[in-house]
Amino acid sequence: MAGITRYGGVIEQLSSITNPQPTYNTTDTMPNCYCKYCGTKASNVTSLTSGPCFRHPLGTNKGKHSLYEGSEKSQYTCRNCGFKNTTLGSLTSGDCPKHPDGYNKGKHQPAL
Ligand SMILES: [Zn+2]
Ligand SMILES: [Zn+2]
Repeated sequence: MAGITRYGGVIEQLSSITNPQPTYNTTDTMPNCYCKYCGTKASNVTSLTSGPCFRHPLGTNKGKHSLYEGSEKSQYTCRNCGFKNTTLGSLTSGDCPKHPDGYNKGKHQPAL
């Protein structure tokens, strides 16, 4: 008798509970891109910055849209004068009395 005790391998059958996979809606999680000059909204940076900006600092359509790097907010504040508006489009449509270039020399610029 070799005395070797062999334990029968008890394989625990882990009950495979199939958790319902949460469905991710990519369109919901995709962050929107906004132009910091005019508030134009795009679904990605590439499409945003490929279009001419009608409120570009150099003049209408003198440059492309530029990505607003701040987060989406319920209210946007001008970083120069503190003017507030609920959308980037309406914020950047107004002349800024404290624009770096001078009084009303440019539009409000959203703070990040
Ligand atoms: Zn723009
Ligand atoms: Zn301003």
